[in-house]
Amino acid sequence: MSKVNDPSLKSWIEVKKDSDFPIQNIPFGIFSPKDKSPRPGTIIGNTVIDLSVLAEDGYFDDIINEEYDAFFASSLNDFIALGKEKNSLIRDKISELFRDESEVIRDDEKLKSRLLYNQSEVDMHMPVEVGDYTDFYSSIEHATNVGTMFRDPDNALFPNWKSLPVGYHGRASSIVVSGTDIHRPNGQTMPADAEKPVFGPCRLFDFELEMAFITRKSNKLGNPIKLEDAEDYIFGMVIFNDLSARDIQKWEYVPLGPFLAKNFGSVISPWIVTLDALEPFRVEGPKQEPEVLPYLKFKGKRNFDIKLEVALKPENNDETIVSKSNHKYLYWNIAQQLTHQTVNGCNINPGDMYASGTISGPTKDSYGSMLELSWAGKNPIKLNDGSERKFVNDNDTIIMRGYCESNGHRIGFGESVCKVLPAKKY
Ligand code: CA
Repeated sequence: MSKVNDPSLKSWIEVKKDSDFPIQNIPFGIFSPKDKSPRPGTIIGNTVIDLSVLAEDGYFDDIINEEYDAFFASSLNDFIALGKEKNSLIRDKISELFRDESEVIRDDEKLKSRLLYNQSEVDMHMPVEVGDYTDFYSSIEHATNVGTMFRDPDNALFPNWKSLPVGYHGRASSIVVSGTDIHRPNGQTMPADAEKPVFGPCRLFDFELEMAFITRKSNKLGNPIKLEDAEDYIFGMVIFNDLSARDIQKWEYVPLGPFLAKNFGSVISPWIVTLDALEPFRVEGPKQEPEVLPYLKFKGKRNFDIKLEVALKPENNDETIVSKSNHKYLYWNIAQQLTHQTVNGCNINPGDMYASGTISGPTKDSYGSMLELSWAGKNPIKLNDGSERKFVNDNDTIIMRGYCESNGHRIGFGESVCKVLPAKKY
């Protein structure tokens, strides 16, 4: 195991026990201090660390040569394109500099005043420029629930579902960072009792609890990525709230799949947690039966034990946790997803994003969307303030969280937060 992941390591920066960001995490993001431009950073406890300052002062000189621009860019695309080896060495270096026995920065007040910020003083930005975005559909519980509700309980899964990771190409422009409020979309729907479609605000506004991985390097068009190499192409993961307009979706999706119901906002957590940091939390995934085709076969533990939760917070009231799920429930793992994505020769690039699909668990309190939690509105969810929800109301805030934990050692993703604003007048 990498020394950086050693649970006994401590930092001279204060880290509270339930913090998502102990020194074993070292995620990467883009932040801006007040009146300064966006730049790459990492976080320990509540303290954001300016990587451009560390680069400027020569702390990465033994790792990088002419790639300094990556530390001053307003996205992490160039940073993650440095490659797996250099990214890991940079993470190692940061870990060394902030361990409690390391004095070099700890005792330099002048440097610390240029380098460190309280999390509450900075703004977070999109960590990468997303070139291409794919949304998979890899939770068997979610696919079964949706198939049961809308098609046939006896044949809930389409015949292809256990043969390949079903997915579609989504839209990258509307992926936004946590804290971005989203208006309820207007669109075309066909109400059950209507004779012709109507236009207006979406009535069935939903979230989808997902995680997304971000790719770090390109393959050439025409050159598939083999499964055993797939994880070398993956930099890390974020929480991904794929906002969905169910009534618009229902009317528009035939025959080509989701369109405007899915591209008005997807909200990610701002810090990318690396696969290096997630290494100690690998677990076996669900058994794949029938056996998959040879190009999708894998060895080892390819799922991750990441606890996930969704809270709804009505305006001026406390939040209610409405779902608790886990990344480990995914039937198709990230290596299989990326392998399948490129098996036809499709090319990928650093900064591309691949969402898992809604991650539902086996129990009713682990479903990853309101569609499933309220069973298409038949069983409203009760919130702590006494109100009920079938879907998400205007001025509700959706909060998603994720973290790995073992023996008090926690690696977290922070939060994806999104407030739902009323539809704009059209
Ligand atoms: Ca989705």
